Amino acid sequence: MEWKISRGKGLCMHCQADMEEGRIFFSALIDAEFEFQRKDYCSDCWEKKEEAVFSYWKTRVPDKDSTKKPTIDNEALLQFFQRLEPEIEPAKQNFRYLLGLMLMRKKIFKFEDIEREEDKEFLILRRTGSEERHRVFDPRLQKDELEKLKDDLYQLLYLEV
Ligand SMILES: [Zn+2]
Repeated sequence: MEWKISRGKGLCMHCQADMEEGRIFFSALIDAEFEFQRKDYCSDCWEKKEEAVFSYWKTRVPDKDSTKKPTIDNEALLQFFQRLEPEIEPAKQNFRYLLGLMLMRKKIFKFEDIEREEDKEFLILRRTGSEERHRVFDPRLQKDELEKLKDDLYQLLYLEV
């Protein structure tokens, strides 16, 4: 089955408030069957929501003239990465692998080693400045699969303004 992503439209899920400049929003990932749903909430509604959240982060909507894209902070990426660790669904393992690569690019992780187990490969990543290590299954994706995965992850994580 194709694994999907769905997300809101730049409005608070609950009160429909717009994502105005400078406003703080909370973005939550909800683990629905075969799908992560991205739901955005304004800070008032965030306090009141009752849904079970897989992972979440806080965003400040950037000023309109700002050339900077709204970004998700490294802590939130790391939290999502760690939250995915026990998951065995291939789509989630793929996300974890890609997040591992992103965190390496951001120098949060350092590549340390490759471990092989039968026909499987795992990346051993060490958190910069610590002894914390993570073992990440390498799904050995083809180039086009990796591109598709990147698009999916960006859609899930970043705001369109
Ligand atoms: Zn709201």
